[in-house]
Amino acid sequence: MSGELVLCHDCDLPNRLGEVPEGGAARCPRCNGLLYRRVPDSIDRTIAFATGGLLLFVVSNVFPFLSMEMQGNVTETTLATGVQALFRGERPLVAGLVLFTTILAPLLHLTMTLYVLLPLKQGRIAPASRRVFRLLHKIQNWSMMEVFLIGILVSLTKLVEMAAIIPGIALWAFMALIPIVAATTSSLDAHLVWSRIGGRS
Ligand SMILES: [Zn+2]
Repeated sequence: MSGELVLCHDCDLPNRLGEVPEGGAARCPRCNGLLYRRVPDSIDRTIAFATGGLLLFVVSNVFPFLSMEMQGNVTETTLATGVQALFRGERPLVAGLVLFTTILAPLLHLTMTLYVLLPLKQGRIAPASRRVFRLLHKIQNWSMMEVFLIGILVSLTKLVEMAAIIPGIALWAFMALIPIVAATTSSLDAHLVWSRIGGRS
């Protein structure tokens, strides 16, 4: 990572980044502002979070999300059937947004992270790593599962008056997935990965 030019966020002084030791940080010589902090064990940690996240993702999409009992009838919903119901209910835009932000974006986020990092751990570079990693930065901002979860909780408070609601295992997995995806993002040392896969070009 020798010689990459970074601007200080505080005083705009251009700095050349030298080698930063694990757990160490580079600071601006003029104002002492933080230029870059190297996350300890970034690659291993990120792989662990992304793998755990992928397992939770499978559970939250395969198993029932909610069961509703109304007058003896039990209806089970999964994330996918919830999205289908939105499409049928003439809310294609909302359905598309929910599909993308709660299912596609987290799935792409976790799989693209593993796609780039797993080979790096073995000293190899996966094909098109740079393109995938650039895309990953954009996708990250689109995982908005917490918005969806709040929406569900709000509609639940209305539903409980009409039906008995039984939370399914997928709902718990989904709730656990939110902090795991956030941890995948925060443990990833983008600077370190760029230096391994060969710059931003
Ligand atoms: Zn500075």
